[in-house]
Amino acid sequence: MPIATISPVTGEVLKKFEPMTPDQVDAAIGRSAEAFRALRGTSFGQRAAWMRAAADLLEAEQDDVGALITREMGKPLRAAKAEVAKCATACRFYAEHAEEFLADEPADAEAVGAHRAYGRYQPLGPVLAVMPWNFPLWQAMRFAAPALMAGNTGLLKHASNVPQTALYMGELFERAGFSAGAFQTLLIGSDAVEQVLTDPRVRAATLTGSEPAGRAVAAIAGRELKKTVLELGGSDPFVVLPSADLDRAAQVATTARCQNNGQSCIAAKRFIVHTDVYDEFVEKFTARMSELTVGDPMADGTDIGPLATEQGRDDVAAQVADAVDKGAAVRCGGRRGEGGGWWYPPTVVTDLTPRMRMYAEEVFGPVAGVYRVSSYEEAVALANATPFGLGSNAWTTDPHERRRLVDDLEAGAVFIDGMVASYPQLPFGGVKNSGYGRELSAAGIREFCNLKTVWIG
Ligand code: NAP
Repeated sequence: MPIATISPVTGEVLKKFEPMTPDQVDAAIGRSAEAFRALRGTSFGQRAAWMRAAADLLEAEQDDVGALITREMGKPLRAAKAEVAKCATACRFYAEHAEEFLADEPADAEAVGAHRAYGRYQPLGPVLAVMPWNFPLWQAMRFAAPALMAGNTGLLKHASNVPQTALYMGELFERAGFSAGAFQTLLIGSDAVEQVLTDPRVRAATLTGSEPAGRAVAAIAGRELKKTVLELGGSDPFVVLPSADLDRAAQVATTARCQNNGQSCIAAKRFIVHTDVYDEFVEKFTARMSELTVGDPMADGTDIGPLATEQGRDDVAAQVADAVDKGAAVRCGGRRGEGGGWWYPPTVVTDLTPRMRMYAEEVFGPVAGVYRVSSYEEAVALANATPFGLGSNAWTTDPHERRRLVDDLEAGAVFIDGMVASYPQLPFGGVKNSGYGRELSAAGIREFCNLKTVWIG
């Protein structure tokens, strides 16, 4: 895959980059290791001041950075600017809370025959971050802000189609006051990840992306005995039970499926609806999906821009075609857009069966699969009948069902009467083939720390 900005609107190559040579990568790892030795000795207060300066830069540059994101991967400008603002919020969150999250953990000293005993969190060293293009700033920030606040250094291998956003990230922290080696972007293809991960100076890795990429990186890290966090794909259920507020559910379902042009790991992808409200929900949902405006992502009124890559658009089109060939019904959309660029309209598909690819695969575009079920038990069984386990949404006003859903849904998150989203305050991650480990909250900053046992007699 070339390292290049290619306009999703026209397909035109806007800017190409040469990948770094192995020697350049080696030198960057050296700078990262050196920066780590200095960074680990700085105080939380100092790092927090730099992190707040990074937030100030993001806020000041929000419009330009938002436009850059939109040019590179096609999400509506409004959403891109919101992503930049969210990154600033995460920087401020970890600036404020890192010290408290990483405070010594006192233990019962007497019980272990010590004068004092406690756990101390210490940073690990340079960490490799392999990141996807869909939230090109936020995914990388979700790693960078806690990692730097803990005293780790970062090496970012970003997706090959967002090199300019990657370079912006690579400069941001140095401009904010961190040393030059503390956070660097490596312009490399996925074939160069092994060189970085097998380098003894690199202590751990985090990957956000597809399941195959996660398996490839985890296999190398396993051989090297290096800690990994994996945030992989998802096929989140959106369960609608008879007591749900259907207008609200249909409105949120539309956003949950189509946010980020339908290219979000935590997008609701499978809509599992009780038969008592199935017809009404499908009608309301289809009406809302049909109303969305597809067009120039830079324009104010646009809800959905093009998909980020040609391959991504072709994959979505093939999944829908497969379902239609095997008997599924298309309620709206279902045909790739005309002209240059990688357009695919909001689409609702019903009458899906297990023989169809959409039934088991993640669909990374604005395509909703709707399923009819006849009981709570059937809804939960279908919601869990996926290799993934990232997020889950469920709609019911019945308190008993709400309690059961929290326990019964096999996922890293359950949102009742709301849309799955990531917040700095809440842990984020998956189970099953959606990966392991957690980002955000206190759990996220502790992932790349050595919790050292201290026993003093
Ligand atoms: P992708 O193809 O897996 O790419 C993600 C990153 O991994 C890119 O930097 C890519 O580099 C790299 N990569 C790909 N194959 C690799 C390999 N064999 N070895 C090392 N690195 C490799 O995923 P994507 O298409 O960009 O993103 C979509 C997927 O990410 C979806 O499945 C989505 O659900 C998932 N995702 C998950 C989360 C989460 O938090 N759980 C968040 C966002 C997205 P190149 O670009 O150079 O190939």
